[in-house]
Amino acid sequence: MRPLLEAWELGSGQPPPSQMLLLLMAAAPTVGADELLRLTPGQCDARLLNLREQWFGPKLEALADCPHCGETVEAAIDLRSLRQAATEPPTDGPVRARLPTCEDLIAVAAAPDVQTGRRWLLTRCLEDDQEISDDVVDAISARMAESDPQAAVEIGLECPDCGREWSLPFEVGSILWQEVSAWAVDTFRDVSVLAAAYGWSESDILDLSPARRQLYLEMVAG
Ligand SMILES: [Zn+2]
Repeated sequence: MRPLLEAWELGSGQPPPSQMLLLLMAAAPTVGADELLRLTPGQCDARLLNLREQWFGPKLEALADCPHCGETVEAAIDLRSLRQAATEPPTDGPVRARLPTCEDLIAVAAAPDVQTGRRWLLTRCLEDDQEISDDVVDAISARMAESDPQAAVEIGLECPDCGREWSLPFEVGSILWQEVSAWAVDTFRDVSVLAAAYGWSESDILDLSPARRQLYLEMVAG
């Protein structure tokens, strides 16, 4: 529990790729950061899916606004259905490029917009030093997404009111970060209640088992 709270504290205000890395590091303290930085975005997302299942279960309720009528649409997502085939190196295309890694994503996180971010990313991944047009940027980005499908998962939605069907990118890292943030805030709220009631230290309260902590919270509530 503490490594995850520390990851949340360190990652608050950081760009999403850094937050993902912190979650992966908290979950696997014996795996070196170097190894995690070399994962492709799809390999990273596959591990984040595992963590989401392990920490919060395989089911997820998503809310989205219908792009046609504006109705809020609820979707029940089973994370197990979002598993993609393993990552394959890209086949030959207009230029030679390796797949990006988590380290590349962190390095380009400050890009001012999506297209600039893609260009910065590709520049890092190109095996030959050359100028590339926007069309080539788009073509290679698409080829990379095909080669690393777990990083490009979309969920299909259908509006029950107007029947419109559309899809949205499923960003497991952002979802997991939001959930971990909510859990961390709840945890610190519990700590605050018990510290005020019993005078215990934060460290003592975090050492309580979840069942025992819940029992004390119920006693405080009367
Ligand atoms: Zn609609």
